[in-house]
Formats: sequence, structure tokens, C-alpha cells
Amino acid sequence: MTLDLSVVQLDRATEELRFEVRDFIDEMSRAGRFTADCDSWLVGWDPGFSAELASRGWIGMAIPRQYGGSGRGSLERYVVIEELLTAGAPIAAHWIADRQIAPALLRYGTEAQKSQYLPKIASAQSFFALGMSEPEAGSDLAAIRTKAEKVDGGWRLSGTKLWTSGGHHAHAMVVLARTAPADPQDRHGGMSQFVVDLPTPGVTISPIHLMSGEHHFNEVAFESAFVTDNALLGTLGDGWRQVTAELAYERSGPERILSTFPLLTSMYARAANRPPGESDSELIALGCLLSRARALRGVSLSIAGALERGEAPDLAAAVAKDLGTRFEQDVVDVALRHLDGVVASSDSADELERLLARAVLHSPGFTLRGGTNEILRGVIARGLGLR
Ligand SMILES: Cc1cc2nc3c(=O)[nH]c(=O)nc-3n(C[C@H](O)[C@H](O)[C@H](O)COP(=O)(O)OP(=O)(O)OC[C@H]3O[C@@H](n4cnc5c(N)ncnc54)[C@H](O)[C@@H]3O)c2cc1C
Repeated sequence: MTLDLSVVQLDRATEELRFEVRDFIDEMSRAGRFTADCDSWLVGWDPGFSAELASRGWIGMAIPRQYGGSGRGSLERYVVIEELLTAGAPIAAHWIADRQIAPALLRYGTEAQKSQYLPKIASAQSFFALGMSEPEAGSDLAAIRTKAEKVDGGWRLSGTKLWTSGGHHAHAMVVLARTAPADPQDRHGGMSQFVVDLPTPGVTISPIHLMSGEHHFNEVAFESAFVTDNALLGTLGDGWRQVTAELAYERSGPERILSTFPLLTSMYARAANRPPGESDSELIALGCLLSRARALRGVSLSIAGALERGEAPDLAAAVAKDLGTRFEQDVVDVALRHLDGVVASSDSADELERLLARAVLHSPGFTLRGGTNEILRGVIARGLGLR
């Protein structure tokens, strides 16, 4: 594996699209349709906002036109999501479907699955959840115990998935399950993926609340839940390879850098208006963050370029996620340490204090979700031949 981070230059048409998206965001913000938030790609669930994006062709941009997408490719999609993320817009509803389910369906789906799901993803009528993690099977995903047993006309799923983001709202969920008993000699064999429509009899979705009382994760229990043969996604027994290929999409995007960007913007606005004579420590810390943001953006854009060329930038994606999520947490750290008189408060009328409160609560998850940083460093070491 090589670490290819070639520089990507966006062409004029792509940059023009950026201004179109900015105008739309301004319009929606002025109309009170959303308030900027941190981690909005995970918690900003707003189907109406997603529908507005879909009507402009900004969801399913990498889905070909024949399946209802706009077929514009990864770089144009990058610009659209970059603008939405930096603005803290509510994009959680369609996020998982657009980011990784659509590419997985295009790569592994049957014609029937593509026709059934892709147009609805592109029109923001079908939102997805991801069923990978389980109790005692997070970092060690090969330890999953959810199983799918073959029966007449389909499969019966039994087991429990954990930390399922948005599962309580989603129309479907892609589930990784064992279709053959675990084999210590081949830990990655015998797993398959299934598309499970929700709700389905035998599937119970229970909330897991955050400390703040927010609900976005779930525990999803499968009790002999029946799915038809058409639910199998890709090749029987090839689930591990399919899931790891999806992780390049899950780990590499700008959302792994920009979860706290609205907070950074607000810190910048405060610094720009600070009275003369105050200590420079705040400005120095902000300057360091902004230069890191700039470098990380180059890395992230380079990965979008690799995806556009049809490559699988797994190593670069692991590097980007490790560096990017630590940056997101450092934004919070700088705000807490350097902004005198600013208090994290979700009830505050002050935008900076409100954004800081959200960021403080959510930042521990940044380096866990999508594969923890410790695991990613193992992936990087292996990829570079150091392990
Ligand atoms: C906000 C959020 C949203 C999520 N959404 C989803 C979702 O929608 N769908 C889904 O399937 N999952 C989801 N997850 C789960 C996520 O993928 C797991 O939390 C993650 O993979 C870690 O697994 P775990 O929580 O079981 O921790 P563990 O695997 O138990 O790890 C605990 C700690 O031990 C460390 N550790 C474990 N093994 C090693 C090792 N070999 N070497 C060094 N250190 C190690 C880890 O780095 C971590 O710090 C979400 C998680 C979060 C935080």
C-alpha cells in the first residue's frame, strides 16, 4: 500500500458550484430554516432540509442519472458537502445513505436493489442506518455474533447491533451478519451484508441516550427477523471485504475534519472583534488551528480525487481520519483554554457558547466512531509496512 496524497485542483465549474451552494445556505439560514451546529452531519436530522438539497441535485451526486442521481462525481460532491459542513447545516438524515450506502449499492447491488433504493436515496426519501458494531464487537468487528440463517425464500436474522446512529428514523439498515459459523483460521470469512427495510417484524429499535438526553444512537435487536433473498447485498460470505471497502468512504470525507468548524468560525469572529491590548495567546492558537485546517483540507481533497479516479485510498483515509478527528477535538480544547469569559452552555443566547456546549459533549466520539484512532494507527503502520 502506498500513501498517495497528490494535490487536487478544483476546476472553475466546480468552484462556481461552491458559490451556488453558499447562496442557498445563506438563503436557508436567513429564512430561519436552520441554525449552525457542530456535528450536524450526525445530529442535524431534518428531512425537509435534505429534500431541499435533493431538489437541487445535491444528494446522490455520485449516483448515475439512470438511477435518479445527478452523476456529477466525487469532486463536485466534495464541494457541496464541504460548504454544508462548514456552515453546520442539518444533513444527518441523508448522510449515511449518500456517503456510503449508495456507493455500496452501485458496486455490489443487484439491478433490483439499485432500482429500488438509489432513486429514493437521491430524492431524500430513503434514509439508511449502519449495522456493524455489536456488544463486544466494535474495534474487533470480526467478532460479530449476529447471524443470518437460510430459510425458504430468505434469511432469518438474530442478534444485537449497537450504537446504530439514526436507526430510529431510518427507512433501511445495512446489517453485517454471520452466514457461516466463526472459524478461528479465517476470522474474516463467513460474513455477509443484508439490506433490512425498517420497520420489519422481529426488529426492535431502542434508544441509547447521550448524557445530555439527546437521542441519536440505538440498540437494534433482531429476533429471528425475516428478510427475503433479495436482501442479500453483494456476494454471500464476502461481507468483510465489502465492509472494509466501504470504510474508505466512511473515513475519508471532510466530515472527519469539519465537525467543529462552526465553532472555529465563531471563535474567529470573536477574535476579529477583540479589543486591542488583549493577550495574543488566543490569536496564536487560532492561527495554528487555521493552518492545520488548511493542510488537512488538502489531504481530504486528495482522497476525494483518488475516489474520483476509482482508487481505494484506504491508507490515506486512515491518516486523514486520525489527523482530522484530533484536529476537531483540538478546536474544542483551544476554545476551552484560551477564550476568557466564554462558558459552554447549550441554553446560551451567545452562538459561541452554544456551539462550544455541543462540541464539548460530542467530541469524545470523534476519535471513536468509524474506527478508533488506535485501530487506525495499526492500519497505517501495516499499510506502510511497519507492522
Ligand atoms: C458517535 C458514534 C456513532 C456511531 N455510529 C455507529 C453506527 O451508526 N453504526 C455502527 O455500526 N457503529 C457505530 N458506532 C460504533 C463505533 O464504530 C465503535 O464505537 C468503534 O468501532 C469502537 O468500538 P467499541 O465502542 O466497541 O470500542 P472498543 O472496541 O471496545 O474499544 C475501546 C477502546 O480500546 C481500544 N482498543 C480496542 N482494541 C484495540 C487494539 N487492538 N489496539 C489498541 N487499542 C485498542 C480502542 O481504541 C478504544 O479506545 C458509533 C460510535 C460513535 C461514538
